[in-house]
Amino acid sequence: MQPAIDESRAVENLRALVRIPTVSHLNDEGTDWSQFALFRETIARLYPKTHAALEQEIVDGHTMLFRWAGASATEPTVLMAHYDVVAADDQGWDHPAFAANLVGEGAEQVVWGRGTLDDKGSLACILEAVEALVAAGHTPANDVYLSFGHNEETAGSGAGMVVDVLEERGIRPALVLDEGGAVVEGIFPGVSKPIAVVGVSEKGIFSLRLVVEQQGGHASTPPKFAATVRLARALVRLNRQGFRTSFVPTNLEMIRTLGAHARQPLRWVFTNLWLTRVPLLGLFARLSDETNAMVRTTQAVTQLRGAQAANALPERAEAIVNIRVAIDSSVDEAVRHVRRAIRDDAVTIEVLHPTEPSPVSPTTGRAWDLVKATIEETYPGTIVTPYVMLGASDSRHFTRISDFVYRFSPFEMSREERGTLHAKNERIRVATFLKGVAFYTRLAGLL
Ligand SMILES: [Zn+2]
Repeated sequence: MQPAIDESRAVENLRALVRIPTVSHLNDEGTDWSQFALFRETIARLYPKTHAALEQEIVDGHTMLFRWAGASATEPTVLMAHYDVVAADDQGWDHPAFAANLVGEGAEQVVWGRGTLDDKGSLACILEAVEALVAAGHTPANDVYLSFGHNEETAGSGAGMVVDVLEERGIRPALVLDEGGAVVEGIFPGVSKPIAVVGVSEKGIFSLRLVVEQQGGHASTPPKFAATVRLARALVRLNRQGFRTSFVPTNLEMIRTLGAHARQPLRWVFTNLWLTRVPLLGLFARLSDETNAMVRTTQAVTQLRGAQAANALPERAEAIVNIRVAIDSSVDEAVRHVRRAIRDDAVTIEVLHPTEPSPVSPTTGRAWDLVKATIEETYPGTIVTPYVMLGASDSRHFTRISDFVYRFSPFEMSREERGTLHAKNERIRVATFLKGVAFYTRLAGLL
């Protein structure tokens, strides 16, 4: 079923949602929860038919969980998005971060603002689709859940608690779709067609706290080997010693899928992996930071701390290392690698918030076929490929109750637009947004 969409109303609804600064902070006290309440009230007002037809509950204080009752409850779907956003002041923005300015004419119109791409855009697309389908009298064949998280950007508890709730009710989703890959161009050598990358797994994530402790004192009589220097040596050693490289099966499937569309001689290289796989792996590790992250666990030293004063010796030198775990590895293996690389028992290592890599969802079967066909119909001429997401999303929690978790944001994004995620000048083209509405309307109409 393809009901009509009131396009200008859809755009106005998105703008209304972007104007509400639902910024989540790591410390809950820093978060203005009244904005989140306002956001939920606004949704009820902007999508009244959805509000009337779907059951809804609030989980973990602010995460919204809707249930659209289907003819059957046996093969439910969960459509996910999050409504918290990363903080933004107006510094460096061409248009204010929370004004939702509509700029330009006709097909070139753009909605500016924090959250347009990440992730209120998807949320608005889902609600617009459901609103239109409810208005047209559509009842889904199976239950459809909408799960809209409130603390995705802070790796918070909302999505995990939704999973607890569903698990307790014995619900096993036949499809879970969350933000993730997008429709992109020019990301793969030799391929000029647009590519839709659908995340079938995501890397694990955790941080390490490395600490060197030492007797403090006056900086005028320093020891030969200060705690800060000892820590620095450990970090340099770690930085020199890369994690092992490998192509996981999803990498190989992506290379084969995209390689079949590459120009020669690259096509030959990408489709004869029995011969080219080893040199290709070396090439991926060197080609760019992105291809390197695709083939191994990575580490980034993100925070450093030393003495309390400029003229005091540090009693404690501390570094935080953020680690993203390849899906064929584990938190344990990564920690062992770090210990080996550092070679210094005086450096203590503490593991913070470990999350293992996600299991891989299949690229065959009903759920995958449905996502793939919907992308191909919405974006004709686009190649659909699985990939491993390098970042983390709320959907990782859902792998506990579903084998069919996919990560895809139905938006065409240029490299420059992708660079605005979590940065300044985040914005979405109106044409891009409306295609996203069409994607979710088509998908939800088939559920
Ligand atoms: Zn997001």
